[in-house]
Amino acid sequence: MSLNFNHVTLGQRVLFGSGKAAENLAAEVERLGARTVMVIASAAEEQIARDVAAGIDVALQYDDVAPHVPLDKAEKARAAAAASRVDLLVCVGGGSTTGLAKAIALTSGLPIIAVPTTYAGSEATNVWGLTESSRKTTGTDDRVLPVTVIYDAELTLSLPAELSVASGLNALAHCVDSMWAPRADPINSALAAEGIRALSEGLPAVKADPSGVEGREQALYGAYLSAVAFSSAGSGMHHKICHVLGGAYNLPHAQTHATVLPYVLAFNAPHAPEAAARIAAAFGTADAVTGLNRLRDVLDAPKALKDYGMAEEAIGEAVGLILPVIPASNPKQATAENLTELIRAAYFGTTPGL
Ligand code: NAD
Repeated sequence: MSLNFNHVTLGQRVLFGSGKAAENLAAEVERLGARTVMVIASAAEEQIARDVAAGIDVALQYDDVAPHVPLDKAEKARAAAAASRVDLLVCVGGGSTTGLAKAIALTSGLPIIAVPTTYAGSEATNVWGLTESSRKTTGTDDRVLPVTVIYDAELTLSLPAELSVASGLNALAHCVDSMWAPRADPINSALAAEGIRALSEGLPAVKADPSGVEGREQALYGAYLSAVAFSSAGSGMHHKICHVLGGAYNLPHAQTHATVLPYVLAFNAPHAPEAAARIAAAFGTADAVTGLNRLRDVLDAPKALKDYGMAEEAIGEAVGLILPVIPASNPKQATAENLTELIRAAYFGTTPGL
């Protein structure tokens, strides 16, 4: 079969090393010649941020971070950055914190150094998100892509095992969905397959020993690959479902991804044999769905949407919202009937693939 694709690789420095975040940040701030640095971290992430920023001058420490970047919080943070004449943004935290830095960069063009402390992966994408009156808007803009990402697995040690698992499965979802998203290509698939391998090795180690660094390094490496693949491939069926569910019913981001993924995989795998074979090989199992189910058992993964605040009566409405946004590239055509079946299964947590 001939190869025929267009691929864009986003330009970004990635500095990866456990215990090295403070040293790497100081070197990057110097390399960029920044003088007025704004450090963004939520209250829960603030101590990590102070340790990471110990070697630099911080002009403004900012902690007014909220999930899904409410527009009023973004505007307040933009005003604070402008008032302090900030010339570099450093965000230390999960996807919500990275999201706030991106919101500032979107209107100011300020460079970002991202220091992630979860496996969300926002640091490696040029995607921004803002929420106004419970409606989340997302877009792509290269101004929001961090110029540098500093990964240090030690910074994730304080992330509780349960949240680590959910966040890691969110990263795994980026990989799986990248196999059939609208701009899927062989480069994205290669990165995604290696991401699945690293996450399926790292996450059980994190679960078994949350204080061990090696499992967290694998998980963080996998999370980065997943985000690079996702950023290039775009949102597939899985992300469209989770985006609607998260926005319409205020479900938690990582847990929603962790719950929905196996149902989308079981839905698409028989219609995407090459992708399914690649996913299975990355899991080291004979078939993809078995590989994911086994991993989820080991991790005691989130199982049912009903556990996260969704009401059963909302399923019909959710299907109506999701159906029109499923990409045409999806391997199996979604209908109101098969999508209702999928969402109901995810709602009740019935074993995926059976
Ligand atoms: P989050 O950033 O809200 O973090 C979850 C919780 O964990 C928060 O309370 C946070 O304070 C805490 N936390 C973070 N790191 C910690 C640590 N090391 N130790 C202890 N507590 C810690 O959640 P998330 O899952 O990281 O990110 C989700 C958000 O990111 C969503 O809004 C999602 O839409 C966005 N996202 C965006 C992209 C993108 O490309 N733009 C990609 C993925 C996710």
